[in-house]
Amino acid sequence: MKKKPFVTKEQLDKIVSEYPTPFHIYDEKGIRKTARDLNRAFSWNPGFREYFAVKATPNPTILKILKEEGCGTDCSSLTELMMAERCGFRGQDIMFSSNETPAEEFRLAARLGAIINLDDITHIDYLKETAGIPERICCRFNPGGVFSISNSIMDHPGDAKYGMTRPQLTEAFRTLKELGAKEFGLHAFLASNTVTNEYYPKLAEILFRTAVELREETGVHIEFVNLSGGIGIPYTPDREPNDIFAIGEGVRNVYEEILVPAGMGDVKLYTELGRYMLGPNGHLVVKAIHEKHTYKEYIGVDACAANLMRPAMYGAYHHITVMGKEDQPCTETYDVVGSLCENNDKFAVDRKLPKIDRGDLLVIHDTGAHGFSMGYNYNGKLKSAELLLREDGSVEMIRRAETPDDYFATLEGFF
Ligand SMILES: *Cc1c(COP(=O)(O)O)cnc(C)c1O
Repeated sequence: MKKKPFVTKEQLDKIVSEYPTPFHIYDEKGIRKTARDLNRAFSWNPGFREYFAVKATPNPTILKILKEEGCGTDCSSLTELMMAERCGFRGQDIMFSSNETPAEEFRLAARLGAIINLDDITHIDYLKETAGIPERICCRFNPGGVFSISNSIMDHPGDAKYGMTRPQLTEAFRTLKELGAKEFGLHAFLASNTVTNEYYPKLAEILFRTAVELREETGVHIEFVNLSGGIGIPYTPDREPNDIFAIGEGVRNVYEEILVPAGMGDVKLYTELGRYMLGPNGHLVVKAIHEKHTYKEYIGVDACAANLMRPAMYGAYHHITVMGKEDQPCTETYDVVGSLCENNDKFAVDRKLPKIDRGDLLVIHDTGAHGFSMGYNYNGKLKSAELLLREDGSVEMIRRAETPDDYFATLEGFF
């Protein structure tokens, strides 16, 4: 599928005259459409709710748009909880799916009335001592071993630090019930960035069967199953995007096959998607400022891995469009690089692109999730602004760029 930016060259030229590059820009229309389609795909399940994974794009304006579309938030740290609270999320609007959780974070989650998702059986005592056991509680499952779909290995849950073993789940539910919990949830996250319509149905099958067993073993009421994140996006143009309606129907089939006959047709489904919701709805916009001809051909841009870490961290592919040259032949082979003193600071390696001139604007695609938010300050590099393309075509700055004062702010008394 040809990847097309959600902004035109004319729009971008105008935007950069007001907001200098680099910046992340998000597409309000696309975000709302993604949320509406997801809600529609799961509308057969009364109680369905998406809890947006805040870590993907922790920006209050984005969270408020998703709130208007009916989403809650999935938080995993103190500041994510604080941001959710500030944006008006309360009580069951917040899922707290953390791990290795500090006491103060459990205390804040409890004070907000968030749904606490326990990563480990030992956290029961820890939670009891720090914040008390709430009436509604969720436990995270890790089935171990290898997770495969149609003979292809998706991931290795057995090597993942998250979740409880199957016997621990039974023990945890029994203990929590004795301690006064009344409504139970079951959660698992077994593979990340899956580009197949089969992931959620397969995961749902595992969780539904486990939910039925747990109810039989412990007699608790299972209120919800949380399918968590993991629905991916096609970063490369050769892949087809997931079909959320096929995914919704696939989950419905296993729901009707497993839960309904067990008398559990009241189980609500929750998701905690991040990448799927925001990934394609964000671009990193950069400017070509240098070209270098040595053993390879380099294009130097005004952003670096501090603005988008995925290529450096995972070797991830992010598609690049040279604005205004969409229809020109890809005659050149470039490394598109940032300015860090790290040779992995490359947005693209050996990428076929049209000839790039200094001053050209480049759109780096699919940066709306785990893009800005993974940013860091290595080399003293500053984080960029975040902009929002409103549905009416106007542009709003929803986070200003960092300044040197921000960078030095923690060195009290020196600057
Ligand atoms: C990261 C994360 C998510 C979101 O994952 P995506 O791949 O962005 O969908 C959801 N739940 C938990 C617990 C996570 O850690």
